[in-house]
Amino acid sequence: MNNHTKIRISGFVNESVVDGPGIRFVIFVQGCQHDCPDCHNPQTHDPQGGEEMAIEEILAMIDSNPLLDGVTFSGGEPFLQAKALAELATCCKNKNLSIVVYTGFYYEEILTNSDNQDWQELLKQTDILIDGPFEREKKTTELAFCGSSNQRVLHLRSLDVNN
Ligand code: SF4
Repeated sequence: MNNHTKIRISGFVNESVVDGPGIRFVIFVQGCQHDCPDCHNPQTHDPQGGEEMAIEEILAMIDSNPLLDGVTFSGGEPFLQAKALAELATCCKNKNLSIVVYTGFYYEEILTNSDNQDWQELLKQTDILIDGPFEREKKTTELAFCGSSNQRVLHLRSLDVNN
């Protein structure tokens, strides 16, 4: 474990109740290749954009809020930085914070990429995976945590929060 490992970041939300259960610290990672039409976060696409931050700096921000139930990785595409995010997720889990990950990949695509140890490690640390690309034709405001109806909220591990 190396807390000096850097993650390329687009931005943060210090407290959110719409990016997974409970009160969550949200990290918008930088870099995405899915190119979903009408993406709400086009500023996150450039893999060289945003800024790099060390895991220890991000943990300090997380530690400053004792009300948090967990941390959400959004984007951008978290699986492009799976190794570093798995390290950060491990640190968060050690603090009893749950991990929600948004991805433009489908769960099955991640599972079948079994040779990619970094992907598998991030998946192992994920409590809830919200998967699939944003599909403009299936846009919805009816589903909690999803932007389009093809996306799924997959509870990979049970959570100790009341939502
Ligand atoms: S996966 Fe997310 S960030 Fe990437 S293009 Fe699609 S909606 Fe935008």
